Amino acid sequence: MAYEFDLFVIGAGSGGVRAARFAAGFGAKVAVAESRYLGGTCVNVGCVPKKLLVYGAHFAEDFEQASGFGWSLGEASFDWATLIANKDREIHRLNGIYRNLLVNSGVTLMEGHAKITGPHEVEVNGQRHSAKHILIATGGWPQIPQIPGHEHAISSNEAFFLKELPKRVLVVGGGYIAVEFAGIFHGLGAKTSLLYRGEMFLRGFDGAVRKHLHEELTKRGMDVQFNADIARIDKEPDGSLKATLKDGRELITDCVFYATGRRPMLDNLGLENTGVKLDKRGFVEVDDLYQSAEPSILAIGDVIGRVQLTPVALAEGMAVARRLFKPEQYRAVDYNMIPTAVFSLPNIGTVGLSEEQAIEDGHKVQIFESSFRPMKLTLTECQERTLMKLVVDADTDKVLGCHMVGPEAGEIVQGLAIALKAGATKQHFDETIGVHPTAAEEFVTMRTPVNR
Ligand code: FAD
Ligand code: NDP
Repeated sequence: MAYEFDLFVIGAGSGGVRAARFAAGFGAKVAVAESRYLGGTCVNVGCVPKKLLVYGAHFAEDFEQASGFGWSLGEASFDWATLIANKDREIHRLNGIYRNLLVNSGVTLMEGHAKITGPHEVEVNGQRHSAKHILIATGGWPQIPQIPGHEHAISSNEAFFLKELPKRVLVVGGGYIAVEFAGIFHGLGAKTSLLYRGEMFLRGFDGAVRKHLHEELTKRGMDVQFNADIARIDKEPDGSLKATLKDGRELITDCVFYATGRRPMLDNLGLENTGVKLDKRGFVEVDDLYQSAEPSILAIGDVIGRVQLTPVALAEGMAVARRLFKPEQYRAVDYNMIPTAVFSLPNIGTVGLSEEQAIEDGHKVQIFESSFRPMKLTLTECQERTLMKLVVDADTDKVLGCHMVGPEAGEIVQGLAIALKAGATKQHFDETIGVHPTAAEEFVTMRTPVNR
């Protein structure tokens, strides 16, 4: 049967754009439908605007530390509206770049909501289109627990467009978004509390990293509360919000920001017209080739709920395009050693196994750890410390994991990720000459294992 398109991609986010462009580059006839914003979550309400706000928040400490280097500044003041307007302008520019990328690579762009009406058919703006393959790349959406008063809370989607910086904010959650936004709000001057329901936030990260970040946030004056969960939210007559915790305590604030995970975006997608199955958590179930239970329909990125990171969605998009249209270049995505950064203040950078994971996996581990005050702070009052940690397999000498909390941790860990991917041993680290004076050189000068 002749189809209008070889590939119909639903969602012009990180994964969808990558798959569409590469498929078109390989000679396929490709369409992409986007209902909201070109570039998806990452460009519009994710990585990019988030990082711009983190940069904004970081200036607070730069100004504070400048006096130690002889600078005297007038009283610093911050204007939220300027930051948001400049951020919006930059995002608008990026939207245009994404449009050009798609159109110039020969992809047919349809702006509107896409609904799958059959295994080979998609409807956009009232028109039906046929395609040999359909790729679901619809991403995710914030998930807020449906407690009484949840309608008074906001998520990251709204935070990027607040008219004013709230004076007081309660951030709920203990994952990436919660610690990043707590850092943004606190850095920009809001009285910020971070409430996490468990014993210690950032579940899954190395224990030393979690503890170190907790200490650093507390040192900065952020109110971090563990074993704290909101039972209800009420709007007070003066416009403020009252959050009643499960333990009965009441906290008054101006903004309750939830970052409690993201669900797959499947709203009105028409999956009922297909044989696509969902997994236990509600994400689209796919095999190793990203194929769903409906043979003509594939899915990648956040909607499959594997690793919700932009570079992973990009890699999956590329793998799908290659497998379908350039099979001789196909390489499966390797989910091992995915480096990641949390842009909290200070940043976390990590690649490979945490100490806890390594032990659980049966490794006999040697741990190398260093905590120090970075050189840049020696002329200032700031008492922030940087943490670096290596998890090494004691039998093979292989470095299993690198972890850091400190300035530019993500930048440093990106390079280390290549070494770990190449199978570097601790001896390779020891034989590597440092770059002096840097913080990063500490990763190649840690000699004595920690005595556990
Ligand atoms: P998305 O980028 O979400 O794209 C999906 C697209 O599909 C959207 O544009 C949506 O409008 C569209 N769509 C949905 N349904 C339909 C439909 N029916 N019809 C047409 N279009 C539809 N990752 C990092 O690696 N680093 C970071 O620093 C980082 N920071 C983040 C910060 C925040 C606040 C958030 C929320 C996420 C962050 N992420 C980060 C995660 C990253 O944004 C996602 O992993 C990535 O965007 C997933 O790409 P995707 O292609 O799967 O989906
Ligand atoms: P995460 O899954 O990272 O964290 C969710 C947090 O919310 C966890 O601490 C979880 O606790 C808590 N939680 C879940 N449900 C509830 C509930 N009902 N009540 C109270 N707390 C709850 O999700 P995020 O929303 O922070 O981010 C989504 C994903 O986006 C991330 O996992 C990451 O993949 C990606 N991202 C990446 C970034 C980066 O690369 N820098 C930045 C931002 C997002 P518990 O641990 O107890 O389950």
